Amino acid sequence: MVDPVDEALKLIQSKPEGILQSELWKELGIDSRKCSRIVKKLEDDELINRTEFKKDGIKTYLLHAKKMPVNPSDLLAGDELIPCIRCELECIVEECHPLMDWMYQLAIVQHTG
Ligand code: SF4
Repeated sequence: MVDPVDEALKLIQSKPEGILQSELWKELGIDSRKCSRIVKKLEDDELINRTEFKKDGIKTYLLHAKKMPVNPSDLLAGDELIPCIRCELECIVEECHPLMDWMYQLAIVQHTG
């Protein structure tokens, strides 16, 4: 069974522009009271931001996820996967040559792409 809190978070994360709380409960197929409890939990866990918003003169809240899931394509420079995946080196990011090489490759791909 899907956890309604997880489901709500995924839905909020799927909307980079944010989603109104008054739309969230309709999309989740739950009542507004249950939605308020879920939103409070997500806010208490610091997973979302909630800001007041007026729609048609009615107060609601605009919800944004604090962290978005990683887009897998962000882990690629062309067809080269970021070296941190499965890395077994002792990590000192500022001195990491494999990462610097990958970032250099990424810059080339972005410049020529
Ligand atoms: S930054 Fe370098 S050392 Fe650290 S995980 Fe990535 S590839 Fe490995």
